[in-house]
Amino acid sequence: MQVLASYLAGQWSPGSGARAALVNPATEAVLAEVSSGGHDLASAFLYARTVGARNLAKLTFAERGALAGALAKVVSGAREELLALAIANGGNTRGDAKFDVDGGALTLSHYAELGAKLGAARLLADGEPVQVGRTARMGGQHVWAPRRGVAVHINAFNFPAWGLCEKLACALVAGMPVIAKPATATALVAHRIVQLAETVLPPGVLQCLIGPAGALLDHVAAGDVVAFTGGSATARTLRTHAKIVEHGVRLNLEADSLNAAVLAPDVELTGETGALFLADVVRDMTQKTGQKCTAIRRVLVPKARLGEVGDALRERLAGLAVGDPAREDVRVGPVATSAQLADVRAGIARLAAVTDSVHGGTGEVTPVGVVAGKGFFVGPVVRAANSPAALAVVNAHEIFGPVATIVPYDGDAAFAAHFVAQGEGCLVSSAYSDDREWVGGFVAAAAPWAGRLYLGSAKMAAQSPGPGTALPSLLHGGPGRAGGGEELGGERGMQLYMQRCALEGDASVLKSLVAG
Ligand code: NAP
Repeated sequence: MQVLASYLAGQWSPGSGARAALVNPATEAVLAEVSSGGHDLASAFLYARTVGARNLAKLTFAERGALAGALAKVVSGAREELLALAIANGGNTRGDAKFDVDGGALTLSHYAELGAKLGAARLLADGEPVQVGRTARMGGQHVWAPRRGVAVHINAFNFPAWGLCEKLACALVAGMPVIAKPATATALVAHRIVQLAETVLPPGVLQCLIGPAGALLDHVAAGDVVAFTGGSATARTLRTHAKIVEHGVRLNLEADSLNAAVLAPDVELTGETGALFLADVVRDMTQKTGQKCTAIRRVLVPKARLGEVGDALRERLAGLAVGDPAREDVRVGPVATSAQLADVRAGIARLAAVTDSVHGGTGEVTPVGVVAGKGFFVGPVVRAANSPAALAVVNAHEIFGPVATIVPYDGDAAFAAHFVAQGEGCLVSSAYSDDREWVGGFVAAAAPWAGRLYLGSAKMAAQSPGPGTALPSLLHGGPGRAGGGEELGGERGMQLYMQRCALEGDASVLKSLVAG
């Protein structure tokens, strides 16, 4: 049995103590084991603070960008191998696996280009210089400087490649060494990427703890950054972690999200905007078996279109095979773990008690190509909420699986924005309309509750990646329930790993300091 090693202080070490099994969620076969006990984590942090930090500090943004580019290349070069691991260990269809692995490589490439653009500068200008003295000679300039510490990256199980790469890309180009901790259940992909990274990154720049976090966070100190993606319960424990609080460690949280999709009253389902809406809902429900933090969970539909939308979703979902994700004809694989399956089933049961079935009942399914009784399968489920009691459940619980609930409304843009707000903060919500006035009213009221608003319309339909795709050029993160964090968004994503400092002095000196 393969035992996955951690990569700490320049050494691969399998750890000791109790072992956890990594399984194929379609067959339940054990693929590998991990153990994260017995590691000298203090030495790993010291290695990052000394060797890693030194190796990064002597490089410019452009040179660090080149490292991100080199990593993108080796990840792309190992694409087939990584896809196979994601299919086996993540329950991903090939399409799901590509979304994760290619998304990771693309994000690294985006930051490689950004680094090249920032050139030889060591500081980044934040805004324009200002005059703070009596004459233009005395100026002020805000700058971003790379933080001197360690970036600890804790990732969720659903995107082992993209999660590792998107956080690493930002920290690397900004100039901070990283200790990554992938989710245990799907660690095979992340483990392989770290092996690939070892061939292109200087020592100490990327270390990786495979297996449970244990005492990892007990070693954080002033100047460090913890970037977390996962459930809100775990996020809560991090917010109050003694060392994070004691040292004022910067903490970025990406947590649960009750993303909404809103169909505006001007949209006919037979038109381009209506088709985009249906395609986006179906894609978000089924891609990665609904295990996407950005997936549409709540679907707000004009009362008059409720039946039509239900019929259209039913028709589309009924045609998608659920089963062994290694098969080409399968569109929906299993969820990643047995715990995840139990969680999704409990969520559906809670929902089923107060909503009506539109499609899929409570998710019972006979998966294709799978030994009877094996695997963590749940079929796509659409429910309809028609009562305040139902809304209370829909607006309170994220079901991290192929489940969405349709809610009727009267078509009012202000109500639609209020509905988005009832999720108490989301990563992304979408509205589908070709009526600019409706869109304007919706955006103004919904924007404070969403990290990103996706505005579906006929003009952009042919080019749209859908609301579920987090793009490196746009912010990923959201307020409230979604954790309050911000990642990506071009240079903004690097700012988590940099300190903003206001400089004041001779204006010509300030200018020279931010010159590339
Ligand atoms: P999770 O159980 O919270 O785990 C997330 C990560 O935290 C894993 O690496 C986990 O390690 C680690 N962890 C658990 N307890 C910890 C502790 N006390 N100290 C330090 N690390 C700890 O979440 P999950 O089940 O992997 O992911 C599903 C959730 O993530 C969903 O709720 C989803 O909405 C959310 N998510 C959010 C985003 C976003 O960008 N906002 C993206 C993806 C997923 P182990 O695996 O070893 O337990």
